[in-house]
Amino acid sequence: MRKVQQTAYAKINLSLDVLGRRDDGYHIVRMIMQTIDLCDELTFETQDRECPAMEVVLETDSGELSCGEDNLIVRAVRCMEARYGIRKDLKIRLKKRIPVAAGMAGGSTDAAAALRAVRDLFVPDVSDEELQKIGVTLGADIPYCITGGTQLSEGIGEKLRALPDAPQCGLVICKPSMGVSTAEVYTRYDSLTDVRHPDVDAQIEAIRRGDLENMAKCCINVLEEVTGAIYPQIGEIERFFEEKGALVSRMSGSGPTVFAIFTTQEQAQEAAAAFAEARKEEDCIVFPCRFVYQI
Ligand code: ATP
Repeated sequence: MRKVQQTAYAKINLSLDVLGRRDDGYHIVRMIMQTIDLCDELTFETQDRECPAMEVVLETDSGELSCGEDNLIVRAVRCMEARYGIRKDLKIRLKKRIPVAAGMAGGSTDAAAALRAVRDLFVPDVSDEELQKIGVTLGADIPYCITGGTQLSEGIGEKLRALPDAPQCGLVICKPSMGVSTAEVYTRYDSLTDVRHPDVDAQIEAIRRGDLENMAKCCINVLEEVTGAIYPQIGEIERFFEEKGALVSRMSGSGPTVFAIFTTQEQAQEAAAAFAEARKEEDCIVFPCRFVYQI
């Protein structure tokens, strides 16, 4: 029996722009992604005997997710099976901590972890770039999640450029109770006419200089115009953190998760505690986090 473990980290979008839509329906994005230390844990076990067809058994402590063929982990394994002809059974355990449908790439990071694990177990010579090519067929955030850290993601998520580490800061993550469908947000985005776009190049420059204040100033997410209009709580949460001294507070991905950037960790901890206190009646998860640069 052989076993590998994978930590699957969540991400936030420091900025997110949509440049257009291809004829096949895929959106062309330009976004700066940052790994954070909120993570799922996955274990992969194989008996290493050849089987006529790969049996994949997934178990999870999450009450929200199906463990069937529609789970992104199983879909990622099936892609590896088809591509490399793997015929070994696999038992997978998922300890889910990243909220589902939250804008933090929870499913994508699990899928990326599955691609890395199957590679490590059965086809160790396969490169990260190869895994990224397989991953993009399942989701735009998966190529990024293979390697993580601070990166610019372009095209449909397949064009990646590693950036210098974004400056460390105080970070708060706040997840309101509703889940948001990424596909629906993008569809609604297509009918918007007047959108405020981020200056992604200015943010890259600020990151290069280690200039937290200007990096924060450039945090804009065009999808907020969709999700923020449906759920006004998103704007209220952002205002709460900005009143508590955040350099900026914005939505991540298609939402509804909001992040807030502070100069220090102490400020972030205080603001998270103040939020939990002020909103104790409401069903929001709030906690301080850190940027992660190496996964
Ligand atoms: P992104 O930020 O990449 O748009 P998200 O964080 O908004 O993603 P996910 O948590 O990835 O959203 O969930 C999106 C959908 O994927 C949900 O409908 C969920 O049921 C499905 N899904 C399939 N497999 C998984 C998985 N392993 N973990 C989470 N969601 C999964």
